[in-house]
Amino acid sequence: MENGMADNISGGLDRRILLQAGGAAVGTLALSQNALSAAAPAPGRGWEWEPMRWVQICATDDDPQRYDKAFWVDFLKRTSTQGVCLSAGGVTAFYPTKVPFHYRSPYLGKTDMFGDLTQTCKKMGIRVLGRVDPHAMHEDALTAHPEWVARNADGSPKRHPTASDLHLTCPNGPVTFEWMPKVLKEIVSSYPVDGIFGNRWAGSAGICYCNTCKTEFKAASGFDVPPSLANPQSPEVKAYNVWVDEKRYAQLKLWGDTVSAANPQAFFTPGTWGRLDPVRLRSTIRAVFSDRQGRGGQDPAWLNGRSAKEAYCAMQDRPVSGIFAVGETSTPYRWMDSCQSSAELTSYVHDGLAHGFRPWLTKFKAEVFDRRWVPVIEKIYAWHARHETYFRHTENLARVAMVQSEQTATYYAPPAPQSAGNREVVPDAAQARIGNADYMRGFYQALVEARVPFNMADERQLDPDYIARYKVLVLPNAAALSDAQCTQLRSYVEKGGAIVATHETSLCDEWGKPRANFALADLFGCDYAGRTDQRVQNVYMTVRGPHPLTQGFDDTPRIMGGTKLVHVRPRDQAMAPLTLVPSYPDLPMERVFATQWQTETPLVFARNFGKGRVVYFPFDLDRCFWEVSNQDHLALLRNAVAWAANGTQPLTVSGPGMVDVSYWRQKDSVTAHLVNLTNPMAMKGYMRELFAMGPYTVSLELPQGRNARAVRLLESGTDAIIHIEDGRLIVKVPNVIAHEVVAVDLS
Ligand SMILES: [Zn+2]
Repeated sequence: MENGMADNISGGLDRRILLQAGGAAVGTLALSQNALSAAAPAPGRGWEWEPMRWVQICATDDDPQRYDKAFWVDFLKRTSTQGVCLSAGGVTAFYPTKVPFHYRSPYLGKTDMFGDLTQTCKKMGIRVLGRVDPHAMHEDALTAHPEWVARNADGSPKRHPTASDLHLTCPNGPVTFEWMPKVLKEIVSSYPVDGIFGNRWAGSAGICYCNTCKTEFKAASGFDVPPSLANPQSPEVKAYNVWVDEKRYAQLKLWGDTVSAANPQAFFTPGTWGRLDPVRLRSTIRAVFSDRQGRGGQDPAWLNGRSAKEAYCAMQDRPVSGIFAVGETSTPYRWMDSCQSSAELTSYVHDGLAHGFRPWLTKFKAEVFDRRWVPVIEKIYAWHARHETYFRHTENLARVAMVQSEQTATYYAPPAPQSAGNREVVPDAAQARIGNADYMRGFYQALVEARVPFNMADERQLDPDYIARYKVLVLPNAAALSDAQCTQLRSYVEKGGAIVATHETSLCDEWGKPRANFALADLFGCDYAGRTDQRVQNVYMTVRGPHPLTQGFDDTPRIMGGTKLVHVRPRDQAMAPLTLVPSYPDLPMERVFATQWQTETPLVFARNFGKGRVVYFPFDLDRCFWEVSNQDHLALLRNAVAWAANGTQPLTVSGPGMVDVSYWRQKDSVTAHLVNLTNPMAMKGYMRELFAMGPYTVSLELPQGRNARAVRLLESGTDAIIHIEDGRLIVKVPNVIAHEVVAVDLS
């Protein structure tokens, strides 16, 4: 395992990034190699495996004088909490720190809130992580150490966006590499903590133009710090991304070493890891506590399940916990002192549990105003504790994985759409131009609706030992793949695996640089014809089944096409089950007819390759499904995965509604999870099923001087049960499916 990991790192992307992106990358290259040789061996099964339920008490400056300790002790007991995270230091110290410029809470007085709570929890047998947050500092520190502050391009200090007495710190200089290690050492050597949790551990200053950043980046790359990161194709932006990532690996290594030097059983763990390579991440991180606290307005109901899958993918053989907030934290407004609805909390937490998260409640402010969340969380935690053995997973049994490509997310930047063939297109600001996020969301939604148990897989861990467990890999416009990654995918299919790919998958290298042809052209059975239409309108597919891919719409001659089209040249003449009906006018109505009803241009390639299967759609099927939610697109994505899998999924579920499923193995059991996400607030989009709701009571004021002679329910087709109350007609409606009409005949 360690050898394989070292090979991966030494042959990995990061070193090559510097060589290609920057002319003078020597400085950072040296850093990368140093980080490599010092990488710790993979940790074994330490204490991090024990706690199944976590609570974070996140303190505000005034909490030492205001919070109710007895409330928390009682809550920890009743929830069978096994791990807590307590605010220790960083922006504010909640203990009597001796580190210079480490700002003590002015409400601390002679007390020690962090130490007191730590001792109490340890006596209760609860593991403790100290929380640090280095992203901001007070005026006095920045006056004494002007080199600690993050700077704007004009050299002015970056003020904190919401706290006028604070400045943002530079994450790439002495605060991270000199000052914070003193804080970490002080906490871990003064208190019996089991580790340190880093909130905003990489700062939140954006691009920093302090002298450290300017000097070190120039030395590493030969470039000046770029004015913005908007163009991921510019060499300085690529070099900058690599440079800051290397800073993060170095920071994780230093902070991890600092913590474990003070206590060999303790470790440092970050709340977020962004695009960092999971292989390198695992060389220093023993567990993750993934910080995605709740849904925002447009987030689908499966968001926390996806976070769990991403964490599971990154950590593989390590425990993962999912942080959720009881307050409203996921919009810019952040009402943190009130709580979300019981239904939202229940649904969000449970979807994470179903996909492998251990729950981690975070409560901002130790003082509690709105206590309505308390019984909700107690119920979930108590249920989880009662059935804990069924959550100690040894393996996820999914046979399908979706490949997530950080390379595509960071560097794939197709041109903005200019025309839709027959009409000018105003580029849609809502459509992200860089990356493949909406392709991912669309395919994800389809797999949830199709009830296919699936995991995530990372492009940087496509080694056979890891991906052989999967029967199908889904590639939602994974455009930016390296030659080596494509070789791994080819070998995977040759040996019997299957892939389902869409749009421009493999058409760019790992830097987002377009290739002349798909690196996977031989698998797809077609070559790139040099053109991608970024926006087409009123395009259809002719259904030429029967074929496994057209199952469910063989009774229609055509279905909707996509909105982006990749021009390809087929390598053979095999007739495709779906072919293109080219774009024709969608206005004016008199002109809405096709001059060409049918072509031989394939819109899907479904073929055998080696011992495996390949399905390739040369258009934005998954992205379009996310935007338009068309049922035929759902059927097509489902059919593609089903045909590629060439067998029944290990878990199938039939029945109504949107149900998010997963299938796990424990030591002596298996568990199938069904999370009911059927809900009008589950997400944007269109209704897919109608759910009977009721009963209703309808109370009517009748026209003066008239009485009810007969009352019928038109949808139910029955007479209604009625009575008169206070001169009004009261009608019982047992349920409504789509549209009930209470029809009252007057006498
Ligand atoms: Zn800086």
